[in-house]
Amino acid sequence: MKLELKNSLSVKLLRVVLLSALIVGMVLSCAQIVFDAYKTNRAVASDAQRILDMFRDPSTQAVYSLDREMGMQVIEGLFQDDAVRMASIGHPRETMLAEKTRPLQKSDSRWLTDLILGKERTFTTQLVGRGPYSEYYGDLSITLDTATYGQSFIVNSGIIFISGMLRALAMGLVLYLVYHWLLTKPLSRIIEHLTEINPDRPSEHKIPQLKGHERNELGLWINTANQLLESIERNTHLRHEAENSLLRMAQYDFLTGLPNRQQLQQQLDKILVDAGRLQRRVAVLCVGLDDFKGINEQFSYQTGDQLLLALADRLRAHSGRLGALARLGGDQFALVQADIEQPYEAAELAQSILDDLEAQFALDDQKIRLRATIGITLFPEDGDSTEKLLQKAEQTMTLAKARSRNRYQFYIASVDSEMRRRRELEKDLREALAREQFTLVYQPQISYRDLRVVGIEALIRWHHPEHGLVPPDLFIPLAEQNGTIIAIGEWVLDQACKQLREWHDQGFADLRMAVNLSTVQLHHAELPRVVNNLLQMYRLPPRSLELEVTETGLMEDITTAAQHLLSLRRSGALIAIDDFGTGYSSLSYLKSLPLDKIKIDKSFVQDLLDDEDDATIVRAIIQLGKSLGMQVIAEGVETVEQEAYIIAEGCHEGQGYYYSKPLPARELGVYLKQAERSKVSII
Ligand code: C2E
Ligand code: CA
Ligand code: CA
Repeated sequence: MKLELKNSLSVKLLRVVLLSALIVGMVLSCAQIVFDAYKTNRAVASDAQRILDMFRDPSTQAVYSLDREMGMQVIEGLFQDDAVRMASIGHPRETMLAEKTRPLQKSDSRWLTDLILGKERTFTTQLVGRGPYSEYYGDLSITLDTATYGQSFIVNSGIIFISGMLRALAMGLVLYLVYHWLLTKPLSRIIEHLTEINPDRPSEHKIPQLKGHERNELGLWINTANQLLESIERNTHLRHEAENSLLRMAQYDFLTGLPNRQQLQQQLDKILVDAGRLQRRVAVLCVGLDDFKGINEQFSYQTGDQLLLALADRLRAHSGRLGALARLGGDQFALVQADIEQPYEAAELAQSILDDLEAQFALDDQKIRLRATIGITLFPEDGDSTEKLLQKAEQTMTLAKARSRNRYQFYIASVDSEMRRRRELEKDLREALAREQFTLVYQPQISYRDLRVVGIEALIRWHHPEHGLVPPDLFIPLAEQNGTIIAIGEWVLDQACKQLREWHDQGFADLRMAVNLSTVQLHHAELPRVVNNLLQMYRLPPRSLELEVTETGLMEDITTAAQHLLSLRRSGALIAIDDFGTGYSSLSYLKSLPLDKIKIDKSFVQDLLDDEDDATIVRAIIQLGKSLGMQVIAEGVETVEQEAYIIAEGCHEGQGYYYSKPLPARELGVYLKQAERSKVSII
């Protein structure tokens, strides 16, 4: 805030002081001038009296002796004085003995001075003889011209007026400076400090005391203002606190401090808008305790409250994965999982919450076990609004509770059963290796050069105690997700190498073993060492182990994949690219990767006789492999016609039901011997 100079207090004061000083100066000067005029008038009279006194005696002499000449001399003497305009000596009733007149003096100021002093003034004195008779002879009369007096009166008045004004001006200026120094300047400094005050924290910047003003009104003012600012800040702080606690009460649960239903609705609204825009899934989990009423009855309400608090803390531990967490009321909580891809992520979260609750709650000296049931809805499948998702999740939870407890339940039955199966499988998968539920089956690979079995692909099988045979397409992705694929993969490699050693020992010394590698395994740093160890342990010649990696797996991070493939190759293994044609299949990445073999995906082989496009693709892949100097193998060969086509196109090898289904080791051993005997009659 900048003050304009013309509005400043000291300038205003200067104006007022100057004006009043001028008026007072003027009035005083005028009074003095009036007084001066009066004095000048008196001076005229006293001068006249003095002149008359001086010339009375010679005039009496002249009139007594009727000496005209002497009378004229006296008159001339009178006229020595410039002010005398007319003089006469004589008896009033006779002709004058002597008289003289001269014109009025000219002067610029006459018009004014004549008004004050009159044009001229006449004075007369009686000429009387000596006592004792004192005879009257006549009069001496003079007329004085006021011009001379007027001139000096004007000069005097001018001086009086100007000096009066100057005095007034000087006083005004001094007053201004004093005022500016003592008041305006300190005030401006205070204003400057006031503008720096932060309205939110008013007492943060105190107004500093002004030096020399500590004890006067300014100092007092500053102290009072500072006190006022402090109390304003205190009040604001109290008001903020009150507002905050009101807000908290309106939006948060009193007991657990978690957001309440209202706040959750707002948060979920926002999450849904984002998810809708980004086309992502959201899961809403409604958690209800299984027997909270019983706990309240069995223990106390205080224990119940403590339990809810402890439960809230356990739920909070998951907040890293959560978009929102709230207490809906009573023993019900809601969790929102934003940005999920697959429903199983919600299932995993629900299960981990249930697992979490397994651990006992230790309250005071009591140990309490909690169980909960969780209802799950998914956005966008189960509803597009906050209300629907929440309502259905609560409803699902209540229904699930009625059926059985300590579990989670998806709103949609099909999702629910799939999730359930998945979770169960995943759980079982962790034990499958230890329980020796895996076996390997083997499928031969035929070289079209001499129609001999040159390779075997090892394929895993899982014999589930309840579900029977679980296809690898189903459990391998699960194993990749939970990390068990590393151990399973190593077991497969070990089994396959061991089996290959056996077959080598049985005389099939050229036989090669192909093993499928998951991408997770490929990126596991230990893999090259594991492969190396196995080759050494089973004394297998290099290039007798072929590792199949899938195209899509490689594409995710092509440079790291290339490095890992290189180190694998250094350990002596061959690398084949599996399911070729289903991914990006670009020439440039094929060239940049150290690959030995391309495996045409079975989907193309199966349809190549009916589908022109597939036939073209198969032909193109064979050409591509050849031009890059790679071996090409077709998988899924089921008929002689398919075989004929790929042989005609120059494919190096084939694999499929046409030659053999994947077989257990013993059966494949029999197959190998038969094939050896009949050489070409392998069908
Ligand atoms: P894949 O590597 O493409 O394996 C070929 C699949 O095609 C095998 O299914 C095999 O049984 C099947 N197959 C072979 N010949 C024919 C045929 O002529 N016609 C038809 N329709 N199918 C044929 P499988 O054994 O069910 O394996 C499925 C997938 O599971 C494999 O695809 C592979 O990606 C994965 N897998 C199998 N074993 C392992 C393993 O030990 N480790 C890893 N990481 N993945 C494996
Ligand atoms: Ca394969
Ligand atoms: Ca394949």
